[in-house]
Formats: sequence, C-alpha cells, structure tokens
Amino acid sequence: PPFAELGLPDDLLASVEALGYERPSPIQAMSIPVALEGKDIIGLSETGSGKTAAFGIPLLAKIDLKRHETQAIILCPTRELANQVCEEIHRLGAKLDRLSAVPVYGGAPIDRQLRALRKGAHVVVGTPGRVLDHLKRGSLNPSTIRTVVLDEADRMLDMGFRDEMETLLADMPQDRQTLFFSATMNRQVTHFIERFGNSPETIQV
Ligand code: AMP
Repeated sequence: PPFAELGLPDDLLASVEALGYERPSPIQAMSIPVALEGKDIIGLSETGSGKTAAFGIPLLAKIDLKRHETQAIILCPTRELANQVCEEIHRLGAKLDRLSAVPVYGGAPIDRQLRALRKGAHVVVGTPGRVLDHLKRGSLNPSTIRTVVLDEADRMLDMGFRDEMETLLADMPQDRQTLFFSATMNRQVTHFIERFGNSPETIQV
C-alpha cells in the first residue's frame, strides 16, 4: 500500500511525502502496519533497505508532541549510526510541531546532552553505554518511554553491549513496545529477544 493508505497522522504523512518517498520499501510495507498496531517486531534487514523509516515512522506516529518527555529510545551500536538515525528521525518528523530528537553517545561533551534532555526530548537516539549513564544520573526518566528500538541488535551484542542493553531494557516500562532490527539472527540475538520481547512478529524481506 502507498504511504497514504497506512493510516499515518497527517503531519507525519506530509513529512514523508515532502521527502519524496513515493512508496514504502518492502521492509517498511511489512513492518509499519504491524508496528502501528502496537506489536513488537523483529525486522530482519540490512542497511539500505529503508529500515530506519520502518521503525521511525511507527515510532513517530505514537509521539504525543504536547508532552515534553522522552517517549522513545533508539539504541544504536555506534555514534555514526546514532547521528545518522537521528538525522533521519528529524527528516521524517520535519512537519511534526517542535519535535525534539537528540543523539546521545560517549566521547561527546555531556553538558549539551543534559540540556537537551532536561528540556524534554521526545526521542533519544544513542549508544547503550551513554544512554545507561543518563539513566543512572537521572537525566533520562525511563517511566515515560513507550517505544524502544534496538537498531542493529546483532552488532550491538557482538560489540559487547549485552550487559548495558539488559540493564536498560530491564529499566524500561513493561508495557512498552520493543522493535528489534537485526541483519542476522544467531543464538545470542534470539536469546536476547526471547527475554525482552513480547510475542514479537518476525518480518523478513
Ligand atoms: P536505511 O536502510 O534506513 O539506511 O535507508 C536507506 C536510504 O533509503 C536512506 O537514504 C533513506 O532516506 C532512503 N529511503 C528510505 N525509505 C525510502 C522510501 N520509501 N523511498 C525512497 N527512499 C527511501
């Protein structure tokens, strides 16, 4: 179905159309309707498939812009990817009234991140270590989070972020929606998803 038939909020549809995206990519066509229903998903897809919008669009559809609090967290393996994903969220949310999305990663000065979080960023995109750091400092309040995305879950686990990821997910509200994206599935990824997913639907293109 074209984007106009997915039941997206008007401002979000307008942003997507302004980007010149004419039709959903296969991973988007299969993931977006399921994620909009509130289900957990496991999206098996590579970079270049349009996976960022596959989770970004349903995540943004759920944001209540009037509440200046963090409602979604996207975990990424590297700062480069966190920046890239945050830029795509800004593009997808360009017509959402004062949407705030901030990248949060280690090795960057924490002050600016603290200021952005204090103002109530709707979406936080970050690497596991620094996001956990903000939770421990109290600069990030997990109780208002409704969506958690693990982008490149296989790579984050391979890079040794498992402890951080487990601590983070254990801190998030139980009734959240979790969207797992991974290029590959192995025992470690499967085990992780079994622990932290809620009857996820697997989507493979
Ligand atoms: P990703 O796999 O998320 O890294 O996306 C790969 C590239 O495809 C990015 O430059 C996106 O801006 C672009 N893209 C994503 N979805 C669409 C779409 N439905 N139509 C055209 N381009 C898209």
